[in-house]
Formats: sequence, C-alpha cells, structure tokens
Amino acid sequence: MRTSIAKQFRWEMGHRLPDHPGLCKNIHGHSYEAQVILVGEPDHTGMVMDYFDVKALVQPLIDELDHCFLLDTHDTLMREFFASHPMKVVEINVPTTAENIAAYLLQHIIHQLDQLPTGHRIFDVKVRIYETEKTYAEVSRDLQTL
Ligand SMILES: [Zn+2]
Repeated sequence: MRTSIAKQFRWEMGHRLPDHPGLCKNIHGHSYEAQVILVGEPDHTGMVMDYFDVKALVQPLIDELDHCFLLDTHDTLMREFFASHPMKVVEINVPTTAENIAAYLLQHIIHQLDQLPTGHRIFDVKVRIYETEKTYAEVSRDLQTL
C-alpha cells in the first residue's frame, strides 16, 4: 500500500533577497522547519524507511545549513562582505527563497537516497519548508518517472 512517512527538522539561518522590494532585502534570519516526506511501500518489517535512517540521511544537510548565511551567488554585495569577513556561508546560485531552499534539500536528499548501499523503496519525495509558522513552500519529485 502506498504509504507516506515524514520527519521534521529545524535550524536557524540568515539570508536576504537583494532584489525584494520590501523588508526581505535586509539581512535577517528565520527559524526554519523542514518536513521531509517519503512515499513508498512498507517492506516485511512494516517500514517505508526506518526513521533513524531518515535522520541519518537528512541531518547532515541540516547541520551544514544551521547558523550559516545562505548566500545567493548573484548577491555581489554580500559576496564581497564574506570574502573579507569569513563566516559560515553556504552558497546557492538562485535566490534564497523558501521555494529554492526546498528544491535544494530535495535535490540533496534524492542524491543521498541514490547513494544508499542497500538501495531504497522510495518512489516519491516531498520537502516542505516553513519560513514562518504560517507560510511554507513544498516541492516534490516522483522518482519512478525519472
Ligand atoms: Zn527571509
């Protein structure tokens, strides 16, 4: 039976949207929450994937982002700043919106799934990013159509 499991992750991160017309162009941060949803068929143990394995897969990605500044590589002002003021920075080549953070995590989670030596039985992955309590962006990919 098609079954979804989910695990939540939290981290703190700074960012800005340099081309935003409002407040988001300022340097600020969020307490982000990610919900990682894996869809598959439970195996003979009754699990789609062990939650411990889900955590082992995703937590290193969260640790990489925790207390970093997520830098859009097109943001030349911030690139110059961090070049002379080294801090924990993670670079992506798109605006640091919740939508793009969700896509970043999804891409890395699928890559990690594909690296598992034991294989996996996941056929759909969703990542939902909460930037605030009331707003989220969600991306998903059906692995069966790749
Ligand atoms: Zn923001």
